[in-house]
Amino acid sequence: MNKNFIGGEWIDGADAADNVNPSDTRDVVGRYARADAAQARAAIAAAHGALPRWAACTPQQRADALEQVGNEIAARQAELADLLAREEGKPLAEAKGEVLRAAHIFKFFAGEALRVAGELLASTRPGLSVEITREPVGVVSIITPWNFPIAIPAWKIAPALAYGNAVVFKPADLVPGCAWALAEMLSRAGLPPGTFNLVMGRGRDVGDTLLTDPRVAAITFTGSQDTGRKVARASIERAGPMAKFQLEMGGKNPLVVLDDADLDQAVACAINGAYFSTGQRCTASSRLVVTQGIHDRFVTALVDRLKALKVGDARAEGTTVGPVVDASQLAQDTDYIEVGRREGARLAFGGRAFEALEGRPGFYLEPALFVEADRAMRISREEIFGPVAAVIRVRDADEALAVANDTEFGLSAGVCTTSLKSAAHFKRHLQAGMVMVNAPTAGVDPHVPFGGRKGSSHGPREQGRYAVEFYTTVKTAYVNP
Ligand code: NAD
Repeated sequence: MNKNFIGGEWIDGADAADNVNPSDTRDVVGRYARADAAQARAAIAAAHGALPRWAACTPQQRADALEQVGNEIAARQAELADLLAREEGKPLAEAKGEVLRAAHIFKFFAGEALRVAGELLASTRPGLSVEITREPVGVVSIITPWNFPIAIPAWKIAPALAYGNAVVFKPADLVPGCAWALAEMLSRAGLPPGTFNLVMGRGRDVGDTLLTDPRVAAITFTGSQDTGRKVARASIERAGPMAKFQLEMGGKNPLVVLDDADLDQAVACAINGAYFSTGQRCTASSRLVVTQGIHDRFVTALVDRLKALKVGDARAEGTTVGPVVDASQLAQDTDYIEVGRREGARLAFGGRAFEALEGRPGFYLEPALFVEADRAMRISREEIFGPVAAVIRVRDADEALAVANDTEFGLSAGVCTTSLKSAAHFKRHLQAGMVMVNAPTAGVDPHVPFGGRKGSSHGPREQGRYAVEFYTTVKTAYVNP
């Protein structure tokens, strides 16, 4: 039984649950504790108590702790990738990439812990000077989704600790395995007890306490829009001071393919962006906006490439598309496929669900491609979060841009073109936090800002040096020597 980590000790949960492999539901990855509200409060109290001790540590001590965790993640890449693939269903090659990314994030923030800088300015008043410094925010609640079980926790935990905060971390209930492994590494990294706490469990049992306890100074959340709104409301309406909050939510990311695109490159971008990780990425290209001169050639080539994808057990040799994460996500995906059909889009490929593959009971779904979709259809507007993409045919680049931006989301957007002029125009006018030119909408670097605009995100960017904005608070000191 894998326990919660509270105040430097491993503690039984109020309850426990099995972690089940979506590639083969007979396979139980492990049994994991589930905390209740009282344990969440105990974790917050422990974090609160640890703040002065963690603040008293030198930046070098913080850097060393993060460096140690980063090195260990990298050294255990194969084992952790296997765990990730087993509990979430991401094909092994992608799981390895995600694990390495988590390692790089810890190492990046180990360096940043040493580089927390301030400013010194002359005052406008005689005799005074002004110092601008950054201080930790305090106790940070970290709430993460299931689709990046190690990278998203890493990109929140590492900066929180680097800048001197104490952490209470609640992973998604579906993926406690990687979260526990990360907590176990952090438990040996020399942090003062209580600096880092793990409380596994469901949103409704644990999450609420992490949002409403007045000792929590900041909440960083990645997940759905609905839950994001709850986080925002709770942060503002709770008793005591409001919490600082940061939300990374859904996407409905467009990949625009213009007439002059390199066809092979555009198809490769669409395959990667729409179907890798079983389409379960907030940055997935679920809208393929294609101009009419290349449309038919693009669709034919894309369907050919789709035929070559292999759906299967995430850990099996040759699998390119793993299972959907669980039964309810599979039901959501197949419901949307039905909705697309009813709305009048044509299913050009895939869309069949299988209860078992090669004798393994799991949540398998063939990648699905709709064509002749309209920008007003639900499949063109709502996040599906599965291996389902829709091609929207447009007249020209102007209409492509208008359709691409016709969404309440704004996380990532891509354009495939060989024209420098078109690339520059789309780069400037796509309404998204991240723009990709001749590259998939998904797949980002660990050392630069990540985040969106419109309905996709709220608050400062994550990752890279921009993470300092959320995890620190600025102090302006006027000094009269
Ligand atoms: P979710 O909103 O259901 O859950 C996210 C987390 O919130 C989980 O840990 C869950 O237990 C917790 N939670 C649920 N109810 C809560 C409550 N009342 N109080 C506090 N916590 C609560 O999302 P999910 O299904 O795990 O993830 C899929 C969603 O995440 C998709 O919409 C996807 O686009 C989004 N996502 C966004 C990004 C991004 O950076 N923009 C990255 C990955 C995933």
